Amino acid sequence: MRNKSEVNKILAALDKEYHDAWCTLDHRDPLQLLVATILSAQCTDERVNLVTADLFKKYKKAADYANAALTDLEDDIRSTGFFRNKAKSINALGQALEEKYKGQVPDKLDELVKLPGVGRKTANVVLGTAFNIPGLAVDTHVSRFAGRTGLSNNKNAVKIEFDLMNQIPKKKWVKFSHQVIAHGRRICKARKPDCPICPLLELCPFGQSSQR
Ligand code: SF4
Repeated sequence: MRNKSEVNKILAALDKEYHDAWCTLDHRDPLQLLVATILSAQCTDERVNLVTADLFKKYKKAADYANAALTDLEDDIRSTGFFRNKAKSINALGQALEEKYKGQVPDKLDELVKLPGVGRKTANVVLGTAFNIPGLAVDTHVSRFAGRTGLSNNKNAVKIEFDLMNQIPKKKWVKFSHQVIAHGRRICKARKPDCPICPLLELCPFGQSSQR
């Protein structure tokens, strides 16, 4: 955990470098974002956007996913990888939304996480990005960044989420996730982080130790 002044400096550096960072999954409504986020597991956002460009023309409502033949849905999302499991989840998701929420996506974390294929990360992405309700999505980039910058010493994603929520002002939660994901893709990469060119180098214990 870092003190308030250190956290503010980290947030300011992210704001400066990634002021316009936002969700890179194309979507027009909460259902589209939910489906795109499920498809993005183990797949690039670019690939997901290619697939959803056609998918969202064919499947417009939760009922369309609920009533789809699994084999058709599998074919429609095949190139995102793990397509059998993803198709099952999206089909079951459509059914659950139809049965419990009249086809609408709920805007509460505890309801979202009970939907098929939806974990806390996906639920927080949808809450923050589609509903503008503060949620701190912890994916692999955010976990890695939190550990390296000393914002969390935990390995468990839920514990990291709570560590971050305790240090970062609520109004910054959504933006923070998008900024850190952008930073993780560009500079703070998993295998070879580009610490020497990182704007957070002075603030980062991992970066500092890698320079010695
Ligand atoms: S200094 Fe290195 S480890 Fe720290 S945030 Fe920057 S790239 Fe990541």
